[in-house]
Amino acid sequence: MTCIKCKALCLLPPAAPLVKRMETAGHLHFTMHGEECGLQSNGVTLPKRSCIQDAGVYHVQWRGFDGETTPGPDDEWRNPKKCVKPSSIISKKNLSDQMRYQVRVRARLGACQCGRDIPSEDYGFLKCADPNLPGGCLWTPWSAPSAVATPVAPPVAPVAPEASAAP
Ligand SMILES: [Zn+2]
Repeated sequence: MTCIKCKALCLLPPAAPLVKRMETAGHLHFTMHGEECGLQSNGVTLPKRSCIQDAGVYHVQWRGFDGETTPGPDDEWRNPKKCVKPSSIISKKNLSDQMRYQVRVRARLGACQCGRDIPSEDYGFLKCADPNLPGGCLWTPWSAPSAVATPVAPPVAPVAPEASAAP
């Protein structure tokens, strides 16, 4: 959004990602709001669509927590090695059914202009997105966190790893 008076660019945060529990135990899918694409469960294939350009990326953070309390708004978020492209599905497997999970997202609307996001370099985009480094690229604010999701409990009690290991 550009202000009609002062032309200042104001970036709105993306909507909170959507979370979907998969059939396999411990498996969650997160998608960007409004970016569902590919073959849907009703047999319809949706075209790729996104509000960011092809060279734009999403920075998805996730966190897992147990107990009843949800951490503070900026606490315990974990960074992935890489950003995700528009229309991506974020798949998290082997999650603990004792934990609850959620994600949040921010976006760079186009290609990296500052040169710090080197695609071959893990975590390189964090320097591109760091507001404390001068000359970085413009990123949207963080979205609201997604709904908190628990992975499906496994049908049988998991076997403790040490029970199957030979001494
Ligand atoms: Zn950059």
